[in-house]
Amino acid sequence: MRVAIGLVVCMLMAVVPTAAAQYDPSQTPMWPGDPIDSHVHMTWAALTLEVNDWADENPDIVDLTSAGKSELGRDLWVVRLSDWSMETKANGSAKEIVYIDGGHHGNEYLGTALAWLSAKWYINGWNEGNEEAVEVLQNNELHVLIMLNPDGNDIDTRWNINQVDLNRNYDHYWNTCPTTQPGSSAFSEAETAANAAYIDANVVDADLYVTMHTGVWIILYPWGKWPEQPPDWELFWSIRDTVNAGISDIPIQNANQGLYPNCGTSRDYGYGQMGFPTFTFETDDEQFIPGSFENINERLGEEMDVMRYLISNVWYWRARLTVQSIAMADDGITVDVVNDGQASTANASLEYRTPLGEVVWASPMFGVNATNSSTVSFSVGKDTFEDDGYWNLNYQKRVINAAIWVNETVDNATSVTMVESEEGGFLIGFGLFNPLAVILGMIGASVYARREDIE
Ligand SMILES: [Zn+2]
Repeated sequence: MRVAIGLVVCMLMAVVPTAAAQYDPSQTPMWPGDPIDSHVHMTWAALTLEVNDWADENPDIVDLTSAGKSELGRDLWVVRLSDWSMETKANGSAKEIVYIDGGHHGNEYLGTALAWLSAKWYINGWNEGNEEAVEVLQNNELHVLIMLNPDGNDIDTRWNINQVDLNRNYDHYWNTCPTTQPGSSAFSEAETAANAAYIDANVVDADLYVTMHTGVWIILYPWGKWPEQPPDWELFWSIRDTVNAGISDIPIQNANQGLYPNCGTSRDYGYGQMGFPTFTFETDDEQFIPGSFENINERLGEEMDVMRYLISNVWYWRARLTVQSIAMADDGITVDVVNDGQASTANASLEYRTPLGEVVWASPMFGVNATNSSTVSFSVGKDTFEDDGYWNLNYQKRVINAAIWVNETVDNATSVTMVESEEGGFLIGFGLFNPLAVILGMIGASVYARREDIE
């Protein structure tokens, strides 16, 4: 039963560590919801007005689009946030991409509210000059699909209008677990098909995907399908340990173990099919109390602290390899590779290419663990590396098969340097962004030092 009383839930700027933001009453938006039973319920119509206002008032950072329509023809709004005056980061590299969706289940309002707040926090912060928000929007694109199931939302039901559980309708081991109402086939529903199409078209390079629900206060990472830890367990455990050590006590677990076996979810699809680091964020189910004036930032403050951590550090949620040195001897080369990211890779290889880009030599695959370094040696004749060629490093962003391949040039004409190594060979090509690259005299020593760190 919906009660149309004009509940105003004030929204204050969150207390942020940088303390750059001051509360400004003129910036205070209303939580666009009405109380329904023990929930505060935001209708699709209210959301539509709200996100269009955001776009109208903030054209420099808000790019509003629709991922498609629900079964009943309602737009699935995606709020895209970034400093759109810059196509790339200030240093010319590509911005990181974060994908967030909410409202798969139409009666899980706080999950939808957390998606709403994840967008609104950065809009408010940008407008108030909050250092963290500005930095995030200058270096990242946030894509936030706030309400995936507007038809179910507006009639206060878990299902979509066809009585399908949208979070069992994805094309990843669809309908292979005990479940109810997964639909007639994977992506049989307009909402899930539109979400997958949006992901394919716009965020395939994402290094974070968070899908928001309510029920039990917990954060779930893959798999729902299997009890085993996922291949990138190191990444998920590292995030879990950091969050639990200093941000929130919220439990962070494999979904199958932390909740129950589930299949065809957007989380398992995002990880297993798209190769994203993926989390299901479940807020607890104690909703806003009608008649109260609870502040959404306070109600979801701890959840937002976790989201801000995940977003601010998105650069680290993949392998980030840098070649420190390539030492050449008569019968082989030795390569020193550092991983600054928190995901491992098992599929790295070094290529030598002609000036025209033809690969004349590629090393066997090697691995580099998260936040670690590897020194690898290959038997190969020195003659292979003539012709003024260049080196490329080829690797997957994460361990999982679906992870995207990265092929990056190790050095360029200005950074290629040859010096005699202590082994009588040569050192070629120092990492472009490594401060050591300018201190040639230290490189030989650093190569030796790092060899002791190999796993
Ligand atoms: Zn849910």
